[in-house]
Amino acid sequence: MSSQQTSTKLPSLWVCPKCRARLVTRNLWHSCGRFPLNALFDDAQPGVLRLARKYVQMLRSLGNVQVIPQKTRLVCVARVRFAGLYPRKSGFLVAFALRGRLNSRRIVKTVDYGPRWQMHFVDVKSNDDLDNELRTWLQESHDTVGLQDDLERAAHDKSLQPAARVSLSGRSRERKRRG
Ligand SMILES: [Zn+2]
Repeated sequence: MSSQQTSTKLPSLWVCPKCRARLVTRNLWHSCGRFPLNALFDDAQPGVLRLARKYVQMLRSLGNVQVIPQKTRLVCVARVRFAGLYPRKSGFLVAFALRGRLNSRRIVKTVDYGPRWQMHFVDVKSNDDLDNELRTWLQESHDTVGLQDDLERAAHDKSLQPAARVSLSGRSRERKRRG
């Protein structure tokens, strides 16, 4: 895993001087600012914040990631955002992106962001929901979408074939729209 992260083929990231968020391009719009994790759970039942802290630990165990609480959600960034959390009264929704669509009864919702990027949502209400299966999904999300494995492939292709540059810029425009 760590060898993948230190791969030199990928373009370098820009770090926002204000909030330290990692961004794929300079001045990319992002929810700039610092919000405490507990503010997301002001309206939640007791115990939910503790559960969220456990989820944050799980995210941190995936690799070199940033966990960023925002105003209404939390996002997790490797090279790019790949997972997060949306607070609910009695728990939270875990969100993570995969290259394909996962079939499981635990997936309560999916959102397509094009053919190579599907967001999956899992309801978390107790410690039992933060299990190995979820961690495996999150790891897959980190290793593919989070580390931009598509760009790594494209960079490899580009060294063989200069025309691949065109599809690269198309993809970064797409990313900008998603914020
Ligand atoms: Zn910022």
